[in-house]
Amino acid sequence: VMREANRRLVQENTSYQELTWRLERALSEKERLATQLKKANEELERLAYADALTGLVNRRRFLEAFPAEVSRHGRSGRAITLLMIDLDNFKKVNDTYGHPFGDTVIEAVAETIKDTMRNTDIKARIGGEEMCVVLPECTQAVAQTIAERLRANIESLQIEAPTRTVPITASIGGCTWTGKTRDPQKIKKICKCMLEVADAALYESKNSGRNQVTWREMQLEL
Ligand code: GH3
Ligand code: MG
Ligand code: MG
Repeated sequence: VMREANRRLVQENTSYQELTWRLERALSEKERLATQLKKANEELERLAYADALTGLVNRRRFLEAFPAEVSRHGRSGRAITLLMIDLDNFKKVNDTYGHPFGDTVIEAVAETIKDTMRNTDIKARIGGEEMCVVLPECTQAVAQTIAERLRANIESLQIEAPTRTVPITASIGGCTWTGKTRDPQKIKKICKCMLEVADAALYESKNSGRNQVTWREMQLEL
């Protein structure tokens, strides 16, 4: 009886050890899968928010991120700037060199925006050849200098069509808001106003001959 009991005990111990190993393996597999899933979800989110042509953030993401940034600045009281960028006479570029070439131009301009702006700036393509940049925590004077640098960098792009180098320019409109509020309704109004004012500034750039930066003051009754 003792021998039989010992034999069983050894057997039980072995199978218990086996179970522990299996459990350990299952746990580490679970961890590996969870990490993989997290990565896949992050990639999915990035893809859902990215503009396919340029890799800038898309309009949907911009419309989420911009109010969030304005709200953050409302709490700190620091200045926030919005730039609207629209390529000049772009229809003519498409008509002359074809739509695929136009796409190449949009990509090149997007790269220039990425290279010129800071990592923390929100850089978005909000329409065909219309792009937006949000500059957090920088004064109007600094934002104006950066906008002018961006305009100059786009102007100095050398984009080769089969027959010649095509000159590309962009018009830019900007506005800066500085204020302190935590009221979500006011934040909403400020966002709407910034979009309108930057757009009006952009159209002033267009009407004054294009390839320039125009700034407009925010006149907002809260
Ligand atoms: P303006 O200086 O007044 O902005 O003139 P414009 O010709 O750029 O203005 P408009 O907004 O009338 O034309 C924009 C053109 O951009 C129209 C369309 O042919 C072109 N476009 C819009 N989206 C895309 C795109 O994804 N790829 C290409 N290649 N062209 C596009
Ligand atoms: Mg346009
Ligand atoms: Mg245009």
